[in-house]
Amino acid sequence: MTTHSSDVVVIGSGINGASCAWHLADRGLSVTVVEKDAGPAMGSTGKSAAGVRVQFTTAPNIRLSLYSLPIFRTFEERFGKDIGYRDIGYLLLVPEERWETHLESVRLQHELGAPVDVLDPVEAQRYVPFATHGLAGATYGPWDGIIDPHMACLAWVEMAKELGVDFRMNTPVTDLRPAGQGWLVESGAERFSCRWIVNAAGAWSGAIGTLTGLDVPVGPKRIQIFLSAPIEDERTYPLTIDLSTGVYVRSELDRVLFGLDNLDQAFGFTEGVDQEWLEHVLLTGVDRFPWWEEMGIDMGGSWWGYYGVSPDNSPIIGPNPGADGWIDACGFSGHGIMHAPATGVAVAEMIADGQTSTVDVDHFRHSRFGEDVPVESNIF
Ligand SMILES: Cc1cc2nc3c(=O)[nH]c(=O)nc-3n(C[C@H](O)[C@H](O)[C@H](O)COP(=O)(O)OP(=O)(O)OC[C@H]3O[C@@H](n4cnc5c(N)ncnc54)[C@H](O)[C@@H]3O)c2cc1C
Repeated sequence: MTTHSSDVVVIGSGINGASCAWHLADRGLSVTVVEKDAGPAMGSTGKSAAGVRVQFTTAPNIRLSLYSLPIFRTFEERFGKDIGYRDIGYLLLVPEERWETHLESVRLQHELGAPVDVLDPVEAQRYVPFATHGLAGATYGPWDGIIDPHMACLAWVEMAKELGVDFRMNTPVTDLRPAGQGWLVESGAERFSCRWIVNAAGAWSGAIGTLTGLDVPVGPKRIQIFLSAPIEDERTYPLTIDLSTGVYVRSELDRVLFGLDNLDQAFGFTEGVDQEWLEHVLLTGVDRFPWWEEMGIDMGGSWWGYYGVSPDNSPIIGPNPGADGWIDACGFSGHGIMHAPATGVAVAEMIADGQTSTVDVDHFRHSRFGEDVPVESNIF
């Protein structure tokens, strides 16, 4: 049995694994990426709504976005690769009862340098048709928008390969254990030894921890996205979220995609698009978006994927207290696309320098659960 050796083994070739791999290789480390699927971006990365935004309520999340969005916005000029960034914006429709606390988070966003416009509901109607009852206002993020998560992931994979990173597809981790000064990772008959493990296995990260008896409190929840039939409107709708219900909608070419995340469900790799949930989403959303009454649905174009969810719906980025040489980068819920640049640079600095200097990710440490720390409210 041959054992392949590198400084770091990254588990998972989604957008975070790919970003970590490139940032680590850029710091001069030798890296192997092991991925159970046949290609990169086939986990949650390939299933997302592709949104990127600065509009969070806590400083640590706003800072991850303030680092990451400029990277996405300038990716092509920096690295010569198109990642499909489009500044279509996020439009948050805010009910009266949330307006004061929402404005407090806008003040924090402004203080930290995040561009966010405050609008009255009538002004906001220029972006997308909606009913204004019960709304106090809206906020629009001009940097916010979408990227193409496949293109971004593949860009980092290509860049990492150019620096010598070894990507192993169809290589599910089946066992791992401490060995000498590092780790031994097994995939069937293949063995990989390394000093450092980066657990970037998304919704599967908890299961990766379990393989070696480590607590990684991240589990899977199914999230569905529905696609409409073509609609008649020349405008490109921003990713618009009705904060009274959590229902969202945005343009996708000549259609819209829409949904409502069910975060109260039990953990599990539940499969399929659920007709009952579609009906619930339509009934919940039609009050705010009365044009949904006439909207056709393309069930064939609708899909589902998994959020990797931590106890507070924010990621875990940092050393696992149960093991030397193990970094978790998982549990991103609905924010793992938008925060992949910050995650990559932070993980690389932890391993190469022993501490982070570019982005402060201390808030996302394991030990925060059970501590009295601010909890993010803009989870969607
Ligand atoms: C419907 C939906 C909508 C979303 N919308 C957004 C959005 O608008 N904006 C946003 O920022 N985020 C969004 N997200 C969340 C985002 O998709 C994820 O947070 C992000 O893709 C996580 O990336 P990742 O690289 O950490 O994980 P993944 O992309 O899931 O990659 C993990 C990889 O690990 C691999 N793996 C698992 N187990 C093993 C094993 N044993 N051995 C080897 N490999 C293994 C998997 O095959 C997978 O490829 C959405 C998610 C869903 C499902």
